[in-house]
Amino acid sequence: MLIHPYLSAYLYVYLDLILLEMKLFLDNTRYFLSDEFVDLSIPITNQKDNVNAWHCDPVKIEPVVAEGFIGDVNQGAPVNFRNISLNPHGNGTHTECVGHISKDYITINQCLNEFHFFGQIISITPQQVWNNEFKTNDLVITKAAILEKFQLGQDSKVLIIRTLPNLEEKRTFHYSDTNPAYFEDAAMELINELGIEHLMVDLPSVDREMDLGKLSTHHIFWNYPAKPAYQKTISELLYIPTILQDGTYLIHLQIISLESDASPSKILAHKIYSA
Ligand SMILES: [Zn+2]
Repeated sequence: MLIHPYLSAYLYVYLDLILLEMKLFLDNTRYFLSDEFVDLSIPITNQKDNVNAWHCDPVKIEPVVAEGFIGDVNQGAPVNFRNISLNPHGNGTHTECVGHISKDYITINQCLNEFHFFGQIISITPQQVWNNEFKTNDLVITKAAILEKFQLGQDSKVLIIRTLPNLEEKRTFHYSDTNPAYFEDAAMELINELGIEHLMVDLPSVDREMDLGKLSTHHIFWNYPAKPAYQKTISELLYIPTILQDGTYLIHLQIISLESDASPSKILAHKIYSA
């Protein structure tokens, strides 16, 4: 079974009848296990401690109420039948396409046509930099910091940046008005030069929270409006557990088939084994 040509022309699948797990081969020697992964996404809940950014309303997950019907088994209905209301950008792990900043209505479901990638996880301590425009100390992910950690010569279409310290509270943090870390323009230019097509971060944005609407690194990454890179995506608000060391993994990116600029996403990292 061929998962995707990018992985290799030599992808074979077989079922290990004893372990009941699938070994998915990436080439003649390297493989990953279908049931062994680390989830890099934050679960979306309607609880108060759900992660939040951009002053978004909390997630709502509520039974449908109609005449004579409440969609809740515990209130007499035969099924649980719930409406869900959320904002992908502010309520959890999500993946966005150039449609996030474009005048044209461009959707993640049309842009993302590949779901398995080799990807590198690197850990970076954002650097404190004085911002003269806003008269604050900002935390910035620099080109130099990425160059120091990124392993050249690896076949990586995905770059996952874990910011340090990697506090557990990132899973529940409310980011609005906290001026989180962001990327300097030169860092994003480097990411383009490295051939990264899917950038993933544990921050609410790659740009400064308040930047007068410039979103400069979003524009650099997608080369918008000059020649938009439709196939590229940015995923934000991940949580990369500390047990996962920096290195190269098989990354599986899942979205909802949603015709909008962004979708909640589930992102899995599989360890790569050598046979
Ligand atoms: Zn976003």
